Amino acid sequence: MIINDPHQLTTHQLAQFNRQAGIGLLVSVVNAVVLVTFLWTVTDHMRLSVWLGAVALTSLLRLYIAHSHAKPERIMLMPGHWASIHFPVTVLVGLAWGSAALFLFPVGALPQQMFLIFMTGATATGALPMYIALPTAYGVYLLCIFGPLMARLFLDDEQVFHVMAVMLPVFAGSLWITARSMHLSLMESLSLHFNFQNLASLDGLTQIPNRRHFDVALTNEWNRAARAGMPLSVILIDVDKFKVYNDTYGHQAGDVCLQRVARTLSDNLRRAGDMVARYGGEEFVLLLHQTPRDEGVVLAERLRVAVENMGIEHVGSEGGVVTISVGGATIIPVPQGQESALLRAADDSLYQAKRTGRNCVVWAAALRDEKRQSTD
Ligand code: GH3
Ligand code: MG
Ligand code: MG
Repeated sequence: MIINDPHQLTTHQLAQFNRQAGIGLLVSVVNAVVLVTFLWTVTDHMRLSVWLGAVALTSLLRLYIAHSHAKPERIMLMPGHWASIHFPVTVLVGLAWGSAALFLFPVGALPQQMFLIFMTGATATGALPMYIALPTAYGVYLLCIFGPLMARLFLDDEQVFHVMAVMLPVFAGSLWITARSMHLSLMESLSLHFNFQNLASLDGLTQIPNRRHFDVALTNEWNRAARAGMPLSVILIDVDKFKVYNDTYGHQAGDVCLQRVARTLSDNLRRAGDMVARYGGEEFVLLLHQTPRDEGVVLAERLRVAVENMGIEHVGSEGGVVTISVGGATIIPVPQGQESALLRAADDSLYQAKRTGRNCVVWAAALRDEKRQSTD
């Protein structure tokens, strides 16, 4: 079965569109220039210039929107909004091109007429790679580009144009079907890609991110926090007397216990950017972005209480239920800093929590970088 995150899929779909937008502009404008050159001797120059300007402007607008409003970080925030902006722009580009059939159709010049029909078809085909990401928008585009041409051909006296007008929807239909099937392949490969990514970064027992995933996230968050000058906190958690739990209730019950603890920890994270991962064995780690020490301590205490309140029986533990010891540390990172120093500080705090009697929270004193920043 393919599991995926629709939000992530939409983002990558639209990013694909963004990547192709430059080629879209090129196809549209180069074809328009070629057509205008071919019609120069038989059509009014003013009309040709205005039309070329309209095609160039609308295609540029599409490129501008793709580049400035379709960055993956932005799409992530509002994919629906972004897609809805793109529909009216697609209509404008399609109609600008399509209007050639109404305003530039050279009466009585058969070779130029045929060339105009051919170039309209070529432009619609050239836009296909770009619209694989948005096949519905491609349908709208085809309607806008071929609609005026169909109308013009039907209204003409030439019999051959009537036949062509009937053929146009068949041509447009096959283009659209091609776009749809390429779209499905794109979706399939994207979702497989994410599925593999998810499998590789999730812990098999608890279904929360694994240590590998955490390490990558820590480096990313470290760099981000260093750029922004914001604090970063980590929390290390260790289940108390877990060896005794296994010995008393069996390894399987131990597994279930770890799953429940993992669930409680992730349920108690409130902010979107925070993450909890399995650090190994009966240890968990939390990464809290833009979190100063006092906020970290409050969260750590909330987690400790939440696990205790689950009330999982543990006769070998002090209070008779499963508890955790919690160690935290905060830093305002510097570029090229050492993430390991932060983890070490949290680990020392955890060690202190164990020595203090377990089921408690210990937070490291301000680290060097945090101190330096606060005295700046
Ligand atoms: P402390 O309070 O000092 O942390 O004592 P502890 O017994 O929790 O610590 P210790 O490191 O001695 O034991 C950890 C135990 O966690 C031993 C190991 O069998 C158990 N453990 C580690 N991973 C798993 C797992 O995936 N499933 C189960 N059921 N047990 C695990
Ligand atoms: Mg341990
Ligand atoms: Mg333990």
